[in-house]
Amino acid sequence: MIPRTVFNEEHEQFRDSVRKFLEKEVAPHHAQWEKEGQVDRALWNKAGEMGFLCPQAPEAYGGLELDFGYNAIVDEEIGRTGFTGIGWGLHSDIAVPYIVNYGTDEQKDKYLRRCISGEIVTAIAMTEPGAGSDLQGVRTTAVRDGGDYILNGSKTFITNGQHADLVIVVAKTDPAAGAAGTSLLLVEADSPGFKKGTNLDKVGMKAQDTSELFFDDVRVPAGNLLGAEGQGFIYLMQELPQERLSVAISAIANAEAALGWTVDYVKERKAFGRPVASFQNTQFKLAELASECTAMRVFIDRCLELHYDRQLDVATAAKAKLLSTDFQCKLLDECVQLHGGYGYMWEYPIARAWADARVQRIYAGTNEIMKLIISREMLKDG
Ligand SMILES: Cc1cc2nc3c(=O)[nH]c(=O)nc-3n(C[C@H](O)[C@H](O)[C@H](O)COP(=O)(O)OP(=O)(O)OC[C@H]3O[C@@H](n4cnc5c(N)ncnc54)[C@H](O)[C@@H]3O)c2cc1C
Repeated sequence: MIPRTVFNEEHEQFRDSVRKFLEKEVAPHHAQWEKEGQVDRALWNKAGEMGFLCPQAPEAYGGLELDFGYNAIVDEEIGRTGFTGIGWGLHSDIAVPYIVNYGTDEQKDKYLRRCISGEIVTAIAMTEPGAGSDLQGVRTTAVRDGGDYILNGSKTFITNGQHADLVIVVAKTDPAAGAAGTSLLLVEADSPGFKKGTNLDKVGMKAQDTSELFFDDVRVPAGNLLGAEGQGFIYLMQELPQERLSVAISAIANAEAALGWTVDYVKERKAFGRPVASFQNTQFKLAELASECTAMRVFIDRCLELHYDRQLDVATAAKAKLLSTDFQCKLLDECVQLHGGYGYMWEYPIARAWADARVQRIYAGTNEIMKLIISREMLKDG
């Protein structure tokens, strides 16, 4: 074992309380929530009471102003347990940081306390039916009309879409200006004209309320513009390394846990009168996966350490997301194989993890887009 150096004693105490909470409040219900397509809304409020939401939020707005290690611990514990219905990572690591980093004092005062308490669930709506990887192709528009913007368009695949009370919407305020005409708006879910569509029927992550959202002449007060008009694309680029690190952290935590479940399984399961663990193929597979897990863990921890010091660059975050999620999917596939037919049964955590993990290579920027980012950095002049 290579000892981890990214967490201190307080972090580990926090981990202990997250772990106990998940065991008590989530484990008994997650399978039912998968059938219902979403977690119980009250889970968010309970998590808020426990201080699990938005650990980095400033003290001035009721937050604990902790380091990103606390977010990482929540991500790891959810990754380790496979409770993928819980959208706290999207809320704490991705959406709320936009308000913290680009919001006005008024916006922070209005929303942050309730984001921390779980009274407000957030989402971020970039993707549209016709625009995913190519965000410059967003067609949702926000046209200024007096003191408001009039928002029209539709979004799809939005995490926390059903529970969301506040959505950061990526819209064109100047469609002719391309990326420079993109802005971010804070849209409250009860705004007239804002409709939540279908809770999408996915291959995995079945308790996650990934949804369509529709905006039909929604009046958004100009005061709900996040940051400056036309700067939305730049803000998205600035926030993406943390989003990708968060995905990488959950990927390696899930991979490590799945390997552990598989070790337990192959020791128990017998074929040809001997434990599956006694076959050399099993031993070699486990050894290969464990070696890769160790290397991946060291790399992702180093990225986390860099992120503590705000030194994690865009290309390195892309490498972390690319490698960790490709590896997670490869490991889970091998682990399903070692489980035989049981590995394909939904009641086995390994089957769920295999299905849940597939999207890790798709969202937060597909792994092909990660390769574009990495190679662009390598090939740039100067
Ligand atoms: C469960 C889930 C949750 C999600 N949550 C959110 C969310 O909360 N908010 C949000 O805004 N979005 C969310 N998404 C959307 C996600 O980010 C997009 O699906 C993703 O960015 C890919 O976009 P797309 O689906 O339009 O695929 P496309 O962009 O159509 O890509 C199709 C294929 O073409 C490849 N491709 C595209 N462009 C290039 C290129 N230039 N070079 C090489 N290959 C290329 C892609 O890599 C992919 O393999 C979520 C998606 C899922 C499935």
